[in-house]
Amino acid sequence: MLRLYNTLTRKKELFKPIKKNKVGLYTCGPTVYNYIHLGNLRAFVFYDLVKRYLLYKKYKVKHVMNITDVDDKTIRDSQKEKKSLKEFTEFYTREFLKDLQTLNIIKPDIMPKATEHIPEMVSLVKILLKKGYAYKAADGIYFSIKKFKNYGNLAQLEKQNLQSNARVSMDEYEKENISDFSLWKAYDKNDGNVFWETEIGKGRPGWHLECSAMSQKYLGIPFDIHCGGIDLVFPHHTNEIAQSEAAYNKKFVNYWLHNEHLLVDEKKMSKSLHNFYTLRDLLSKQYSGKEIRFLLLSVHYRQKINFTFESLNSVKNILEKIEEFMTNIQNYKKSSPLLIKKTKQEFEKAMDDDLNFSKALAVIFDFMKEVNKKKIGIGVKKLMFEFDKVLGLNLDKIKSEKIPEKIIKLAEEREKARKEKNYKEADKIRNEINSLGYQLEDSEKGVKIKKV
Ligand code: AMP
Ligand code: ZN
Repeated sequence: MLRLYNTLTRKKELFKPIKKNKVGLYTCGPTVYNYIHLGNLRAFVFYDLVKRYLLYKKYKVKHVMNITDVDDKTIRDSQKEKKSLKEFTEFYTREFLKDLQTLNIIKPDIMPKATEHIPEMVSLVKILLKKGYAYKAADGIYFSIKKFKNYGNLAQLEKQNLQSNARVSMDEYEKENISDFSLWKAYDKNDGNVFWETEIGKGRPGWHLECSAMSQKYLGIPFDIHCGGIDLVFPHHTNEIAQSEAAYNKKFVNYWLHNEHLLVDEKKMSKSLHNFYTLRDLLSKQYSGKEIRFLLLSVHYRQKINFTFESLNSVKNILEKIEEFMTNIQNYKKSSPLLIKKTKQEFEKAMDDDLNFSKALAVIFDFMKEVNKKKIGIGVKKLMFEFDKVLGLNLDKIKSEKIPEKIIKLAEEREKARKEKNYKEADKIRNEINSLGYQLEDSEKGVKIKKV
């Protein structure tokens, strides 16, 4: 039974989808004004983990992820580069999709762009105006937070701070500036040629509005799960809830899941602090997508990760071990249905406990040890492939060749000769193995056979 930590209640709750066996999943996507960095990727890998585990549990998942292709930052930077907003954001959208692929992240089913959903957003603002939750000001249309009595529940804001009439027009702001927020920004000459002529005036949407309008369009209201990085709890998700629940008078989302930050030297990795690595940076240093994916997954999603190259290097070794394991098991013959059953149960128990992936990994590593020790071969590959639906390491693509029986026998004979200190004989056998196209590598843990 899957339990998920719901930010709304600050508790682990039993997951029950609205429709049997189906899950509506909305994850906040990128603002496409630059290459995404490793911190952003932690969020996208986390979304992928949520989705993959739901798929593993045989749910039918409808996954929607927005592309923010109009906001303060995309306008500012497209102007700097003297490009149209469309040309500029399309470039970074394509690069973003490539990054998802490199990390083996399953592509969302629907990736709506904000600029292609202006009518939906205008309709939502019209409802809010009609119901008295929104009002017009000189620079646009604002949401009145004091009109919505549940404002700030998700972020657990202090209620006495919500009475001000202050307004904030920026998309991003801090808790100290809790204010009425912008739904629609009236045209300003700094926006250049970015505007829409609509029933609610000439201008462009505020950032928060798009997720309310697009999630409702594709998933309905309420829907099951909404994910994002922890920094989105306030103001973004707080404002999404206010807009949607005020307009439709229904609960917006049942489960809110948030990933913690990736840090560098104890500070959040972010563009504004200039302490970030893009995926390109790391690929050019010869790290692979798989390694980066694994590093981002290996710590529980609600704990911070401090990024270091040492940790990325240690992932290299772990993945090598897994690959080697996948090769070795081809030569194992024994069977242990009990071990297979127990391992599957323990893996699921860990994942069911709020997606405890690090615990699930420990289960897999213990299993690998046991299999190696007892030379269990039957059902092992199948189980690893099953786990790989969640791991996303493409274990089925590992090029592993079965080591011929004859070579294994020779290697065993050589071991025997060595133990008996008959080094001449041992070297002779080693040469024979080499002449057959295989190589022996002695390590602390025993001898490894590799194809040359
Ligand atoms: P943005 O493009 O800035 O809207 O960010 C896309 C996603 O990345 C959001 O869910 C953010 O919360 C998340 N994010 C940004 N920086 C980090 C970080 N350092 N660690 C984890 N998640 C992050
Ligand atoms: Zn969003």
